[in-house]
Amino acid sequence: MSKIMTYDYWVENFKPIKNHLVKYDQLTFETYDEEYEFVKSANPNCVWTEVDGDSGTYIVSGLHWVNRIHYYITENPWEDEYTEVPTWVYRTCDCADEETDGVLTWDGDPNPDCPECDEGMIDIPCETVVDLKDIYGQETDIVG
Ligand SMILES: [Zn+2]
Repeated sequence: MSKIMTYDYWVENFKPIKNHLVKYDQLTFETYDEEYEFVKSANPNCVWTEVDGDSGTYIVSGLHWVNRIHYYITENPWEDEYTEVPTWVYRTCDCADEETDGVLTWDGDPNPDCPECDEGMIDIPCETVVDLKDIYGQETDIVG
């Protein structure tokens, strides 16, 4: 079972460092070349991976390969290897769903004129503990 926390709590407590290898003010590190080399040279317990999931993106503890988007390095090490920090959550809009044998699936063809969604996706707020309880269930322990 993952430990789920809000992004704000994560930033405040783990303190992601700035990427000094780029001229922009950013916290993320690329998945290739010198930025990736730097990530690999960091304390493994201070490395986090932002990954692409089924219904959004989230930051997870550790260096991962599958579905990676980019990396973060924090000042403070993680302790729980199953820590999860949602950064973007969406649901599929009704206009992009297709019912096949009673199961709703993404039909890949959302209505471009739909007022509800952006290309078939509707963003779900995921910033606060309340937001995350709405997503994961009221019984879920959310750190935030
Ligand atoms: Zn729609």
